[in-house]
Amino acid sequence: MTAGAEGSELNLEIAVAAALAGAEQVRPWQEDLYRDLHQHPELSHQEIRTAAAAADRLRQAGFEVTTNIGGTGVVGILRNGAGPTVLLRADMDALPVKEDTGLPYASVELGTPAGGGAPVPVAHACGHDMHVACLLGAAQLLADAQKHWGGTLVAVFQPAEETGDGARGMVADGLADLVGHVDVALGQHVAPLPAGTIAATPGPAFAAADCIRVTVYGRGGHASMPQASIDPVLLAANIVVRLQSIVAREVDPAEPVVLTVGSINAGTKANIIPDHAELQLNIRTYSESVRETVLAAIRRIVTAECAASNSPREPEFETFDQFPVTDNDPGVTARVTEMLAALFGAGRVITAPRVLGSEDFGELARGVGAPYCFWLFGGADPAAFAAAGENPGEFPVNHSPRFAPMIQPTLDTGTAALVAAAMAWFSPPVERRSGSPGAGGSIP
Ligand code: ZN
Ligand code: ZN
Repeated sequence: MTAGAEGSELNLEIAVAAALAGAEQVRPWQEDLYRDLHQHPELSHQEIRTAAAAADRLRQAGFEVTTNIGGTGVVGILRNGAGPTVLLRADMDALPVKEDTGLPYASVELGTPAGGGAPVPVAHACGHDMHVACLLGAAQLLADAQKHWGGTLVAVFQPAEETGDGARGMVADGLADLVGHVDVALGQHVAPLPAGTIAATPGPAFAAADCIRVTVYGRGGHASMPQASIDPVLLAANIVVRLQSIVAREVDPAEPVVLTVGSINAGTKANIIPDHAELQLNIRTYSESVRETVLAAIRRIVTAECAASNSPREPEFETFDQFPVTDNDPGVTARVTEMLAALFGAGRVITAPRVLGSEDFGELARGVGAPYCFWLFGGADPAAFAAAGENPGEFPVNHSPRFAPMIQPTLDTGTAALVAAAMAWFSPPVERRSGSPGAGGSIP
């Protein structure tokens, strides 16, 4: 492996081993913290308790801490002499999901959605609690090993990844001014891969996502007199079917595209024809030109179907929860992959196929002007994962009520990955201290 700047191979190995030697001290509180975060999930933009826990830990580790950036965002900065600035990011929010893992530390929390309304069950069904615990552990390990590296470490705890506006909010609230020049931005997501493995993909790795709320109008009336009504349920049904022709007939078959109608709502009662229907669409694409083609086709088809149904009003379109493509820098990804393969062994570092999931990490990295890599790390019981091989659909994935990463080796793997990947950029310390660097701890 090669180190950042003029570091030698030996220095980098020693520095990583020295930092990870502290894992024995960090692991107990980190596991407790993970269970605590898991039991107390918070919805997007409401990560108050989680942000406070992150800020506390960072202060204890000696970071300069700034809170309430873009809402509940937290930034910790550790200046450790000359050298590159490495930004590590964890997202903090949970989901409106009723946890069904049966774990002793399962969430029974309720939360109120941002728009108000009745309380909903909340769970860390995407594993962002794991991201927070890993980054706090890595921050502590790097702080404790400061004599082995030089540079600036920036730890970012981001709100509202699930709604796609958390990274944007932090950038809009002055993140770039706060952190200054950043040489590289790194992030990770726990995934349904065997625990202990890492998957990094150079280039476009996660899709762009767009959500659209479409409202179409009819004319309400009695179910027994359809001739006096314009039925928005039939209109909506035609739209759902016709929209699928976009992917099948209008897009290059070699281009990965998803168009899902995830929600459809109309009416209250069997004997009433309602006066409007609402559809919620989710679109995943990998290129801007395909994205534009699909979004334009949706408008064209919805508008035409409304005309075909003699709809009395123009349809309405409202976009929300938008994510850009996550486009991993090939050079950064190669350096991360090389470093992690050296740490974990090449067999544990795989190249993941592109997925149609989305992330707003790229927006954060672009906001601070840094090249980036965002990788996946496994959280699944390897035996259960292998057993589900025949029926992958049976295995709980992110956002499932049954999604439950194994605490170990997931936590150790995600923590060590952040430490080692950051170390691949840092400089050797300006002033070599004499004596043993304290290396020799086991590398998970
Ligand atoms: Zn998610
Ligand atoms: Zn997530």
